[in-house]
Amino acid sequence: MKNKSIWTIGVKDNSLAKLNKDITTDVLIIGGGIAGLSLAYFFKDSKYNVLLIDKNKCGLGATSKNTGKLTFMQDLVYNKLSSNYNEEIASLYLKSQKEAIDIICGIIRENKINCHLKKTKAYVFSNDENSIIDFEKEIKFYQKNNIKCRTKESLPISYPSKIVLETDDSYVFNPYEYLVSLKDILKNKITIYENTCCTSVDKDNDYYLCHTKNGNTIKAKYVIMATHYPIFIIPYFIPFKTIVERFFIGASSIDKIKDIQILSHNDPSISMRYYNNDMDNYFLYGRRNRKCTSSGDVRDDYNELNMEYNKYFGKDIDYFFHTHDIMTYDNLPFIGEVDNNLYIMTGFNKWGNTNSTIGGKLISDLILEKKNIYQDIFSPRRGFRLIKLRIFLCLMLMFFIDILLIKLILK
Ligand SMILES: Cc1cc2nc3c(=O)[nH]c(=O)nc-3n(C[C@H](O)[C@H](O)[C@H](O)COP(=O)(O)OP(=O)(O)OC[C@H]3O[C@@H](n4cnc5c(N)ncnc54)[C@H](O)[C@@H]3O)c2cc1C
Repeated sequence: MKNKSIWTIGVKDNSLAKLNKDITTDVLIIGGGIAGLSLAYFFKDSKYNVLLIDKNKCGLGATSKNTGKLTFMQDLVYNKLSSNYNEEIASLYLKSQKEAIDIICGIIRENKINCHLKKTKAYVFSNDENSIIDFEKEIKFYQKNNIKCRTKESLPISYPSKIVLETDDSYVFNPYEYLVSLKDILKNKITIYENTCCTSVDKDNDYYLCHTKNGNTIKAKYVIMATHYPIFIIPYFIPFKTIVERFFIGASSIDKIKDIQILSHNDPSISMRYYNNDMDNYFLYGRRNRKCTSSGDVRDDYNELNMEYNKYFGKDIDYFFHTHDIMTYDNLPFIGEVDNNLYIMTGFNKWGNTNSTIGGKLISDLILEKKNIYQDIFSPRRGFRLIKLRIFLCLMLMFFIDILLIKLILK
């Protein structure tokens, strides 16, 4: 078993220079994953000077280890959004994901990017018959929103399933190849520095000062934190409104590929797809969804994954890799302004390929003073009630611990 993301096999990418001087720019994007590079793409022909920095090489963060799916069929998310908010917001989220897929396909077509984009059918399945009510609600939602969907007797691969839902018009691609190409297109249009780590951002009147690990300062009017997770807590307390989840993926070569992608509804969530990189065919199997903070050795997770791969597909994993994503309390991402001209893009709920694309469009629209219909539903300012509740519970806990300690001391 090799610990390597299959998306990086055979993909060449040259490093760019690191920043070694103080510099001023209009727009500073911190982070060169799919969020930062997608945002930069929307600025490439704008009137602004744009600078993007990445602490490593662009593209090698979480995006280079995801499952490369582009789909609006994200488990039974529209059920959740309808109950968290209402059907109108669920429909708006569906629209955003379909729009994101169109944008990515458009960028790939326009720039003739070879990132092994393929149209697939998408499946969500469950082995718990009690989930049928949730599936029925999702089907009703799809029907109301003109999305063709069908229930199936079983999955199109040999894997246990009791309830199966199928939709059309999803895609898969190699996310790392996509990012390497985006970087290549952008490096002549904007300024990109790699191996340049931002350690803090301070406000300086109408500007922001970004300090780097090398001791340089970048002065910028607009700053966008596209570092997967913001490097600050205030404003808007993102850590209080999110949790981090890990996911393990195994891949091994197989004879034939199918144009399908599969996701399970129940815990632990399971994700499957095929991939052909012109040299070999692969089948990917991802599972085990747990909080980053839980203890344990990742080797146990890989062994468990391998055992499961063997059980269902009769062979060992050739490649394995793992990554994590930021999950929000209400299934919508946090994309937008958190302070005057300071923006964040995070909380993609394991759907960052689409959410960061639509997020890049949203933030560029905000800075270029254009209207964008997703501004309110993705606003990072939401969720204040939850923060207040969590702070209240923390204070109560501290109060009870204090009482306990006083009692112990007095004894
Ligand atoms: C197992 C798994 C499978 C997934 N599959 C899918 C999928 O199929 N489809 C989908 O849509 N989404 C998927 N996701 C979600 C998706 O991978 C993420 O949401 C997305 O990659 C996040 O992109 P990003 O640009 O925010 O982060 P990253 O790709 O991690 O990029 C952040 C960049 O910021 C840089 N950086 C960090 N800190 C600093 C700093 N201080 N200074 C400078 N640079 C910095 C990093 O080096 C990195 O390059 C999946 C997630 C998981 C966990």
